[in-house]
Amino acid sequence: FRFCSSNGSGEKERTLGMIKPDGISGNYTDRIKQVILESGFEISKEMVIQLDEENAAEFYAEHSSRSFFTNLIRYMTSGPVLVMVLEKEDAVARWRDLIGPTDAGKAKISHPHSIRAMCGVDLEKNCVHGSDSHQSAKREIAFFFKEAPSDDAVGKHDEL
Ligand code: UDP
Repeated sequence: FRFCSSNGSGEKERTLGMIKPDGISGNYTDRIKQVILESGFEISKEMVIQLDEENAAEFYAEHSSRSFFTNLIRYMTSGPVLVMVLEKEDAVARWRDLIGPTDAGKAKISHPHSIRAMCGVDLEKNCVHGSDSHQSAKREIAFFFKEAPSDDAVGKHDEL
């Protein structure tokens, strides 16, 4: 018998990582992936996709009433993004730690080793995304990687 909690049990957890358009156009993809792998994550799925306004607005629906929303949608549709399913124990929290704070300008001072410090610019152009909770991770992974019902290769480990 073993406990199935996703924290501390050795069970892998999944989160959604994304390299945003500024990360791709700034040629940071290889460096970001290197940091991901060196930090012990497995990239179990990945896909390059160009979001349209509808996709981006749905992905960021929770921010639809915010003043920065229009600019955010313009930014997120300005070029392709790379979405990845990242797997590791405690992946949601560990990936948030690795990317650093939302404001990349502040990250350069407070979290100089974070990914946002490495390749982000400011509060908007922060080069990467990470799910902020288990619930978000589940929704965001399903948003990009809808699995066929028969494909249980990864689903077996889906403890989110
Ligand atoms: N964002 C922005 N202005 C703000 C706050 C956020 O342009 O004042 C953008 C930024 O690209 C951020 C995204 O909107 O990554 C989503 O915001 P959230 O607060 O969810 O930050 P995150 O979870 O990405 O750190």
